[in-house]
Amino acid sequence: MNVKWANRIEALPPYLFAEIDAKMDEMKAKGVDVIDLGVGDPDIPTPSNIIDALEIAARDPGNHRYPSYVGMLSFREAVSNWYNERFGVDLDPVTEVLALIGSKEGIAHTPLAFLDPGDVALVPNPGYPVYSVATTFAGGIPYDLPLLRDNGFIPDLDSIPEEIRNKAKIMFLNYPNNPTAAVSEIGFFSEVVDFASKNNILVCHDAAYTEIAFNGLQPPSFLQTEGATEVGMEFHSLSKTFNMTGWRIGFAAGNKNAIAGLGKIKTNIDSGVFQGVQYAGIEALRNYSLGLDDRRKVYEERRNIFCKGLDDVGLRYYLPKATFYVWFETPEDISSQDFTSRLISETGIVVTPGNGFGNYGEGYIRVSTTIGTKRILDAVERIKNFKI
Ligand SMILES: *Cc1c(COP(=O)(O)O)cnc(C)c1O
Repeated sequence: MNVKWANRIEALPPYLFAEIDAKMDEMKAKGVDVIDLGVGDPDIPTPSNIIDALEIAARDPGNHRYPSYVGMLSFREAVSNWYNERFGVDLDPVTEVLALIGSKEGIAHTPLAFLDPGDVALVPNPGYPVYSVATTFAGGIPYDLPLLRDNGFIPDLDSIPEEIRNKAKIMFLNYPNNPTAAVSEIGFFSEVVDFASKNNILVCHDAAYTEIAFNGLQPPSFLQTEGATEVGMEFHSLSKTFNMTGWRIGFAAGNKNAIAGLGKIKTNIDSGVFQGVQYAGIEALRNYSLGLDDRRKVYEERRNIFCKGLDDVGLRYYLPKATFYVWFETPEDISSQDFTSRLISETGIVVTPGNGFGNYGEGYIRVSTTIGTKRILDAVERIKNFKI
């Protein structure tokens, strides 16, 4: 039998990392000690109070059956309390919070809930690839919001043409931003609320990195903005804040109708988050500041080490105020892809080429500081010997 793939997967953009993956395997086979700064996945283990909560919950047979679709009320209450404590935002745990199997799951299902074929989704470029791929899967059309250096990697809403505003149903945003590490001010979020309500566009803000910030900075939630719950929802994740990427738990919060719409899709696709993991999530949120400053300090130190290395070799970057990424420019006339290929062949260091996040990422490289600090020091030494 000839198994033919559907057009929606045939139409996926070419896998930009295939060449890098192949090179990485080749280098490892040669015995090279590869340093992987490519993947944004915390190396530090999940705090033990959270593991303990899972252990207890896993032994309770009451948690072995199907969970509720929307999440346990106690988990949604923990989310609501955390939003109040951290952002001063009041959320009704029953109608304004929805548990997710990681925020990626919720983001990927959002276009199915709000786009009809031919509708437009506004997506940041460079950006987390799921926004545009999920839009295409739902039959929607992604429209790029360029994130440019000159605008501090914040989109220029005024430049979106009338025709696109009319066709757009949803808009994805993400601050603190992956991959550029840019932070948004509440002023920009106010502009977004205005724009969204004038044009009837649902705002879907991805807030995965609000807790990874330096020097006491407290990046805002979109929902703190006046009028935000009228026009949008926010995705949050326990993955980056609590080093829980493998656990698969996150949540959506905000506009009731948006939460209900996404919930309808999910009810027909998945069966919720394992309750043991939800109990762990409750523990994480209740004691959310436990050890958090120490984790931030680790990323801050690694950022400083890496950026000092970039200074020494004369590469241009933007000192990140948040996230565990560093976004730097390739030297003139060298493409992201060429820089990445040469770096791995000549130094054994793996990074992510900026164009992997969209064409406006061309000319940039993303580094993730989610490996041991000693390895970051090693990487910096190797980069100093790299003949750019
Ligand atoms: C890591 C990441 C996510 C996904 O987090 P999960 O909750 O683990 O699915 C979502 N958005 C951005 C921008 C991320 O970097």
